[in-house]
Amino acid sequence: MKKYIMALDQGTTSSRCILFEKNGKLVSSAQKEFAQIFPKEGWVEHDPMTIWSTQIAVATEALLKIGGSWDEVYGIGITNQRETVVVWDRETGAPVYNAIVWQCRRTAEYCRKLADEGYSELIKSKTGLLIDPYFSATKLKWILDNVDGVRERAERGELCFGTIDSWLIFNLTGGKVHATDPSNASRTMLYNIHTMDWDKELLSLFGIPESMLPTVMPSSGIFGYTDKRVLGGEVAIGGVAGDQQSALFGQYCFNKGDIKNTYGTGAFLLMNTGDAPYTTDNGLVTTVAWQIGDKVSYALEGSVFTCGAAIQWLRDGLRVIESAQDSEYYAKKVPDSGGVMVVPAFTGLGAPWWDPYARGVIIGVSRATNKYHIIRATLESLAYQTADVVRLMESSVDMKIPRLKVDGGASANNLLLGFQANMLGVNIERPECVETTALGAAYLCGLALGIYSSLDELRKNDKPDSIISPTESEEWREAHISRWHKAVERSLDWADFA
Ligand code: ADP
Repeated sequence: MKKYIMALDQGTTSSRCILFEKNGKLVSSAQKEFAQIFPKEGWVEHDPMTIWSTQIAVATEALLKIGGSWDEVYGIGITNQRETVVVWDRETGAPVYNAIVWQCRRTAEYCRKLADEGYSELIKSKTGLLIDPYFSATKLKWILDNVDGVRERAERGELCFGTIDSWLIFNLTGGKVHATDPSNASRTMLYNIHTMDWDKELLSLFGIPESMLPTVMPSSGIFGYTDKRVLGGEVAIGGVAGDQQSALFGQYCFNKGDIKNTYGTGAFLLMNTGDAPYTTDNGLVTTVAWQIGDKVSYALEGSVFTCGAAIQWLRDGLRVIESAQDSEYYAKKVPDSGGVMVVPAFTGLGAPWWDPYARGVIIGVSRATNKYHIIRATLESLAYQTADVVRLMESSVDMKIPRLKVDGGASANNLLLGFQANMLGVNIERPECVETTALGAAYLCGLALGIYSSLDELRKNDKPDSIISPTESEEWREAHISRWHKAVERSLDWADFA
């Protein structure tokens, strides 16, 4: 008797497994953190074997916790940290180098050179992305160029490249399947999001042998079956999506204009743009949301570098709160921020400002200012930054958003969500199950296996836990936003180095 859909959620700091019932209810979960490796300033790596072993351990643990067996698992959905690169031997499965993590900046200089040589337009038009070390291509090139013997072995067809989803699929299937899905492929800077194929011109620009690349399969579909020797059962891998796209799916954002924000350390906003890949010149990236059958859905993505991290700064830097949750309690001690604005541009500003030289600002301080105003203003900055990205997206697709779906650590903060509702003038919806990333992968798998017949059937599971409505007027909103922009201007072009 099948009961559970298993989601493997391979994140940047931990591997997690969640078991869901068909109705989207979470029935078991397990999590293991693993080491972050920092070989040099700005470099970030993971041990691929640790990623694999922690992932398999939590899968087993989640089942054991409820006395479940593999026979009770319908199938597996995989969601993962995106852009991170692994290269391994096709025969032995041994990685040739550590995984180079999305955060790693080692290829920054090469990226600058590419931009200087005028490749930005070409890359954007094919991949929807901006030239940045963040995306996989330059990291893969780095491994080929810098690890002894790797280029020769790759040219002989002996090596596989993959993002973390491919690495897990390969291992789960006992080396039988080397595949990925378009949501992950679209983050590599090697994948043409219009032709939906690896792009030969880009492969040659980066010197990547085609034989290394995984086969791209629909996000919802059977990728293969787990090897009995690995899990003790043959279980279908039925869904794969990068973490942000998976969260968009898990938030039921199936229609054009549907949008979610994840308030984590940084914030990730994704808007479903339907079957059209909108490309913009305003710093948003265009990405594949998912592919179901032949139908491709696209998304616009924008991020805010410092979101929950600003709350961590209140806790660990300023030491004005003891825990992130405290921020709400203290912020409520004052009716508003008393005219104070905090622009948490600790590492520069992203969309719509794109200024790596921007730095943080606390402005509007008077003799009456106290720590509660600063705490409140910091919380509000999360909402202002989000509103800036939402407005950019709205103007890119020329439509107003119907509501904002939210998740991530800071979405627990009701004061923040109330302010966000006022900032956008729409309802904010927080789901009952905040594990939207894992849920999305489980749903993609469930669709492939016929557990759900359609997106409409899935939508029946969408039961927001809270809906927060705006209480302020349009004038109030415009006045606040224009003051915020004035504060942002004060933060721009400050530091001497990026
Ligand atoms: P990530 O996945 O990026 O590690 P999470 O989604 O786990 O992030 O969210 C953690 C972030 O959310 C932290 O930066 C923390 O400061 C912030 N956070 C957690 N709870 C709250 C809260 N109640 N109010 C405001 N911020 C919070």
